[in-house]
Amino acid sequence: MTTPARRDPLAFLADEVADLKAKHLYRPLRIMSSEQGPVATVDGREVISLSSNDYLGLTHHPRLKAAAVEAVREFGAGSGAVRTIAGTMDLHEALESELAAFKGTEAVLTFQSGFTANTGVIPTITGEADLIVSDALNHASIIDGMRLSKAPRKVYPHADVAGLEAVLREATELGRPAGAGPYRLILVVTDGVFSMDGDIAPLPGIVEVAERYGAAVFVDDAHASGVLGRNGRGSVDHFGLTGRVAIQVGTMSKAMGVLGGYVAGSQALRDILVQRARPFLFSTSHPPAVAAACREAIAVMEEETWRMDRLWSSSARFKAELTRLGFDTGRSETPITPVIVGDSEAAIRFSSELFEAGVFATSVVFPTVSLDQARLRTIITAALTDEHLDRALEAFANVGRRLGLISG
Ligand code: PMP
Repeated sequence: MTTPARRDPLAFLADEVADLKAKHLYRPLRIMSSEQGPVATVDGREVISLSSNDYLGLTHHPRLKAAAVEAVREFGAGSGAVRTIAGTMDLHEALESELAAFKGTEAVLTFQSGFTANTGVIPTITGEADLIVSDALNHASIIDGMRLSKAPRKVYPHADVAGLEAVLREATELGRPAGAGPYRLILVVTDGVFSMDGDIAPLPGIVEVAERYGAAVFVDDAHASGVLGRNGRGSVDHFGLTGRVAIQVGTMSKAMGVLGGYVAGSQALRDILVQRARPFLFSTSHPPAVAAACREAIAVMEEETWRMDRLWSSSARFKAELTRLGFDTGRSETPITPVIVGDSEAAIRFSSELFEAGVFATSVVFPTVSLDQARLRTIITAALTDEHLDRALEAFANVGRRLGLISG
């Protein structure tokens, strides 16, 4: 009798990887060996970085670094416990009070990341008796949050206020299926700024329609925090809607330059999240250095207003120049500037040739965007100088022409 050959039960994974590579959908990680600056060392090469979310250039700000170092000296490297056991330090509470004052809300609760904020809040505050109504292009963490909820959900076409209204009208007229009566809560969920296209949610219309149908609005402001509104207070502040949006999620991982997510809203919302939100209950709190650097980031955002001005003027210039060269920057209204190429192979090639030319602009392909919408996704930061922008634009022009993506 022969023993059957031992098969690797995970062999299918290698097949999947090979399949992704064959379809030009496999993206190797690029390795950075410097700080996340406007010029960074990536895969051993010095490049102008157009790929970070470091909108305001705070990842390497001397004041944030000093705050982090000081917190390590005084409080150590880690927090050692989840918030609800022994991991709540006064630094965490101080950061939350300062964020609440910044956002103009009653209370704030921080999470380990923006991702865990969304996956923590949505299933905590919604259940079988509720309905979640979501924009078709909401971020993956919102989608996962909805998947973790027992609430049914409906999707409205991207940024389509009339489409949202149709969903709300039907939901309020028909109520819950099987004659179970009206919904306890209808929660309308949208990104404030959409991370792949850089367009801003039509919040005034969304809020107005939601109010008419008695629904609450939830805005994920990951890409609006530090970018829109007074001193970066976000999209709700930008549109003058403070007090009319029940829940704002923000991230401290992008413009604030550090790490973490937060939920801004009522005291009751914070109270229930402290009791129930699973990432809050079951995952260790931020190290002291993270909380201290985030506090410093808020102070810098209040004081160094030139950063936001620079962010917007540089990105306007970059976008105008790309358009003049003949590139398609889609529907961007913010510093997120997609350069839409279409085919994923072309996008990956464009990115790698730009990299060889000293410009780091990552490609984004399926499944993050649809198959025919492959692109480079650039974000201009306040830290980039005019000279960096000139050099980047020159590389876009040269490589774009060489690959036949633009004429001339
Ligand atoms: N929401 C949106 C809209 C995002 O773009 C991101 C980050 N890609 C997140 C949430 C997650 O934020 P974080 O990186 O802090 O987990």
